[in-house]
Amino acid sequence: VTLRRITSPGDLAEGYDLVVVGAGPAGMEAARIAASHGLDVLVADENRAPGGQIYRGITTARAADLARLGRDYAAGAGIAEAFARSSATYAPGTTVWSVTPSEPETSTGTGLDIGISLAGAATFVNARHVVVASGAIERPLPVPGWTLPGVMTAGAAQIALKTAGLVPEGRTIIAGTGPLLYLLAAQLLRAGATITAVLDTTPRGNWRAALPHALDFLRSAYARKGVGLVATVARGTRVFRGMTDFSIHGTARLDSVVMRRGSEETRIAADLVLLHQGVAPNLNLPLAMGCAYAWDEGRAAFQPTVDEWFGSSLADVSIVGDAAVIVGAAAAALQGAIAGHAVAWRLGKLASDMRDREVAPLRRRLAEAGRGRAFIDRLFRPADRFRRPRGETLVCRCEEVTAARVRETCALGVTGPNQLKAFLRCGMGPCQGRFCGLTVSELIAEERGLPLSEVGYFRPRIPVKPIALAELAALQKSDSAVAAVVGFVETPSPIHETEETP
Ligand SMILES: Cc1cc2nc3c(=O)[nH]c(=O)nc-3n(C[C@H](O)[C@H](O)[C@H](O)COP(=O)(O)OP(=O)(O)OC[C@H]3O[C@@H](n4cnc5c(N)ncnc54)[C@H](O)[C@@H]3O)c2cc1C
Repeated sequence: VTLRRITSPGDLAEGYDLVVVGAGPAGMEAARIAASHGLDVLVADENRAPGGQIYRGITTARAADLARLGRDYAAGAGIAEAFARSSATYAPGTTVWSVTPSEPETSTGTGLDIGISLAGAATFVNARHVVVASGAIERPLPVPGWTLPGVMTAGAAQIALKTAGLVPEGRTIIAGTGPLLYLLAAQLLRAGATITAVLDTTPRGNWRAALPHALDFLRSAYARKGVGLVATVARGTRVFRGMTDFSIHGTARLDSVVMRRGSEETRIAADLVLLHQGVAPNLNLPLAMGCAYAWDEGRAAFQPTVDEWFGSSLADVSIVGDAAVIVGAAAAALQGAIAGHAVAWRLGKLASDMRDREVAPLRRRLAEAGRGRAFIDRLFRPADRFRRPRGETLVCRCEEVTAARVRETCALGVTGPNQLKAFLRCGMGPCQGRFCGLTVSELIAEERGLPLSEVGYFRPRIPVKPIALAELAALQKSDSAVAAVVGFVETPSPIHETEETP
């Protein structure tokens, strides 16, 4: 058996048992296991090759790439090979832009209609179940100057390194907090980059919250990796810890960074600044479907609600990997495998006792893979200072809305992020809130003195990813179906809330 790879909408079947969104470790494993039980599975992923974030480019990596990207990266080759030997269908370069309940008159059956954009054409396929394995987004780090040319996210720099072997030239500063900050610094140093400095904004007080979990951490694989990374970075560049503030300066593009530690202020010349302060689940697709979610105070992030089988609050939708909770690649793959068995059971291909037997060892490995995670989450919880900007710092880059404007508008009595859209259009630009969503919710919570659990997050609208109007216009479905999909007409639907929002 080998994976069937498709590159044209004409090769898509009208319906599948399961559509998996994302071909990272979680999606690849969910698809492989579900297909092994005889389900007809389609995996749609925006990237040109499987791997997701961590294993990006793994199927074409050479020995030199494997050496500089580290052992964790190389581990992805096994998952990608197993996926390639599965009977799933894989559509690379494919964006999933909507998931709605099936249109009874046009679909092949009950279940969900999935809006797909492939090779410049939009189309729908039907599925009995959807597994969302769409990964994480990088949490924004909105400091003054973060939108200047020459400033990127650490993740973007890593994508350039993994997919094109691009290594930054000139004076590079990496700033923020989180394990990925040190991982990227080590990867860039190994690739020959000059890193002028790492500005670590991890609040010193976080140690107190992390300490009770230190024993678990020390017994975990994270400890060995973490110590190695910190040592590599310390040997290769200067690390400034305990940053209490920093800002990025320049006119046409950045030229320097001003960092503050207490009352001490230092300016460093820079050509490139890479920002990062952790990752959070990519919620756009689950929330557009109407999946339930909650605020996790420890991780300072919204997460979709999932059960022990990674089923969401909607019967036909499961969510796995970083899209559900930030757990790391090994745990993401195990979650995907558990969900693959669970979906096979749900769709009648696997008896419950067989499912439980298959899943028991996976659960043990999942618990092992998560060991030490609580320490990391607490240690790298970003400071309020860097999550809740003030003044003229941009919050929404698409619509150019500043922190001051968001705060002033809150003072007018705005009740939540969805109402704020009507005032300021935050979350309505091309990124659909991926850059500003967390910041907007946090600012509303602070200004109105409300818990984040009450403020909530944007309810994104479909299409959750930008697709060309020409693609929508060329759709073959009935006018009412297309209109409902793009939100011009509100139709009652079992997976949408009725709350009125723009
Ligand atoms: C920028 C970034 C860099 C990271 N780098 C590392 C690293 O080097 N090492 C590490 O241990 N961890 C890293 N992480 C964490 C890492 O993502 C997880 O450990 C692991 O990859 C999670 O696997 P996953 O399968 O859940 O999601 P991912 O691996 O993120 O895979 C999700 C996939 O879904 C696709 N997708 C998303 N939305 C859609 C859509 N609407 N339509 C079609 N496809 C879609 C994405 O393109 C992606 O290929 C990184 C995270 C981010 C955000």
